[in-house]
Amino acid sequence: MRGWPWSVVVAVAVSVTRGPAQEPLDLLRLEHGELPIVISAPHGGSRDIPGSTARRGAGLERRPGGFVVARDGGTEELAGLVAAALTERLGARPWVVVNRAHRRFMDPNRRPEEAYEDAAAERVYRHYHAFLTEACTTMRQRHGAGLVIDFHGQGSEAGTVFRGTGNGLSTASLVRRFGPRAVVGAESLAGELRQRGVLVHPGPLERPEQAGFTGGFITKHYGAAGGFDVAAVQLEFGASYRKQEARAGVAAVVADAIAAHAINFLGCRRPAVGGH
Ligand SMILES: [Zn+2]
Repeated sequence: MRGWPWSVVVAVAVSVTRGPAQEPLDLLRLEHGELPIVISAPHGGSRDIPGSTARRGAGLERRPGGFVVARDGGTEELAGLVAAALTERLGARPWVVVNRAHRRFMDPNRRPEEAYEDAAAERVYRHYHAFLTEACTTMRQRHGAGLVIDFHGQGSEAGTVFRGTGNGLSTASLVRRFGPRAVVGAESLAGELRQRGVLVHPGPLERPEQAGFTGGFITKHYGAAGGFDVAAVQLEFGASYRKQEARAGVAAVVADAIAAHAINFLGCRRPAVGGH
C-alpha cells in the first residue's frame, strides 16, 4: 500500500456524505451485504461527475492497465443482475459497489495518483474505496473469509472471460485455508464457471493469465497488498456476455457458479426451502 491513508479516507467519506449539491453517493451504488462476497463494478458507469472535467492522463501511458477512459459497457447492469441472482440462491445479499460515474472522470481500478485529476472526482473515488474497505473488513470479522469479484469488460475476445488474480497473488488467502483445490480444478471459481459453459481463460488448470488482464488495483489491493486477508478475482467479460439480450442468462449462470464456489469455500449455505 503506497501512501494512501485509509483510516483518514473513511473519516472524510463520512463527512462528505452529509454534503449538499455534489453528493458522491448519487454516483455510486453501495449496498451493505450479509454474505462474504463483494460484487464490484468500477468501469460500467456513464454519468458525469458535477464539477469534474475529463481526465487528461498527462504523463501516463495509454495502454490496457494504464490510462484508459473507455467504459466497460454493460458491466454495471450485469453486476446488478448477478447480485440479485446470488441473493435468491443464497438467501442473503452480497455487498455491491458499483461506480455509476464515467471512467473519463475517475477510475476506481487505479491507485490514487492515476485515478482522478480534481477534487470532485477524488471524492467519488474515496467513497468507492472506503466502502470496499468497510466490506472487506466486515467480511473478515464476521466470516473469517471473503471474496471480492471485480466485474469488467474487454474488447479483444467477445466469447471469453479473462480471469485475473495476479497469477494467484490475490487468491492466496483461499489457498492458505483450503489448499490448491480452491483455485485450481472443478471447485474453483474458474472451474465452476467453465462447467456451466462460461469460457474462462485461463481455465482452472491453466496458467499463466493473459497479459493485460491479470488484475488491476482493486484485485491487487484488496486481495493481496492491502492486508485484508480476503480473496479477489477480476473477471473481464467479452462483449457476448455483456450485450443486453444476454445479460440475464449470463447473470443466472455466473451466480450459480459463485454460489457453488461460496458454499465450498466461504461457508455459505443454500436457504432452507420453505414449507408451511
Ligand atoms: Zn474495466
